[in-house]
Amino acid sequence: MQTLSNSIQISHILLKEALNTAKVIVDATAGNGNDTLFLAQNAQSNTDIYAFDIQAEALYNAKEKMKNSCIRTDIKVNFIQASHDEVQTHVEDNLDLVIFNLGYLPGGNHAITTKSETTLKALQIMLNKLNVHGHIAVVVYPGHEEGLKESQLIKDFASSLAKKYFTVGWYQMINHNNNAPALCWIEKVGE
Ligand code: SAM
Repeated sequence: MQTLSNSIQISHILLKEALNTAKVIVDATAGNGNDTLFLAQNAQSNTDIYAFDIQAEALYNAKEKMKNSCIRTDIKVNFIQASHDEVQTHVEDNLDLVIFNLGYLPGGNHAITTKSETTLKALQIMLNKLNVHGHIAVVVYPGHEEGLKESQLIKDFASSLAKKYFTVGWYQMINHNNNAPALCWIEKVGE
């Protein structure tokens, strides 16, 4: 049994289960491509993955990672240089699975980070495009200033979602430090 010591690991366990049925997937923050690769390696055949990032550097890194580590030809990975709140412009279909891994590009410019208002707007748009039994994972990093603001905003918003339509969990290591990364996991259960 794998030791669970961070929220990314928890997200991957849940994502793996959700990938059994997901056909249209959004990676809302491609970054260095670790999550995109995980999604691509575990997706079913004929799945479309849309990976967004605002930075060309991130998309270059993510594409390289995919080229070097994923040889699947039965799925389509689309890299899109745009903000995740523009998802409507780039993805026509409704969504089965979305992941946001917030914050800044590891190894990149730390001043370019996800911003609370844009993240919240994107999350609302994704929820509207989510199919019933679709899932959204949001990994938040409250250890830096904007991340703390973002984390509180997402937690408040997600807590307020009607349980008739959504189930929402918040998973965080509680004996590491007060600001350990957290996972918000949302499933749409009705409409
Ligand atoms: N998922 C990535 C991985 O596995 O390597 C890590 C993502 S990194 C923590 C966060 C990324 O979000 C950065 O690359 C940053 O450029 C991107 N980002 C910031 N604001 C964004 C926005 N509005 N839309 C899309 N991506 C954004």
